[in-house]
Amino acid sequence: MLMLIHRDSESAALEVQPGSTLAELAQLSGSGRQCGVCGRQFSTRQNLERHLILHTGQRPFKCETCGRRFTQVSHLKSHKLVHMRRVIAGMEDRI
Ligand SMILES: [Zn+2]
Ligand SMILES: [Zn+2]
Repeated sequence: MLMLIHRDSESAALEVQPGSTLAELAQLSGSGRQCGVCGRQFSTRQNLERHLILHTGQRPFKCETCGRRFTQVSHLKSHKLVHMRRVIAGMEDRI
């Protein structure tokens, strides 16, 4: 069964101080799997904690090629494809 819970303006009224740590945000969310900041529900606690990183403003995933930083590893992975395409394009140029 799918549970789609949409909460917007009311729960978004809760403002997070810039520089809040992940631990503080996790505390805000209690022991459940709902984001204490924006109200989103997650299937696992792990997913919630990964999401909370977004609210801390931290970008822990760094591209070693160009130094760009990303909030989620999936974003970094898809970004890295850009460099791979450039390498392939560069090889084609030489032919
Ligand atoms: Zn959230
Ligand atoms: Zn890069």
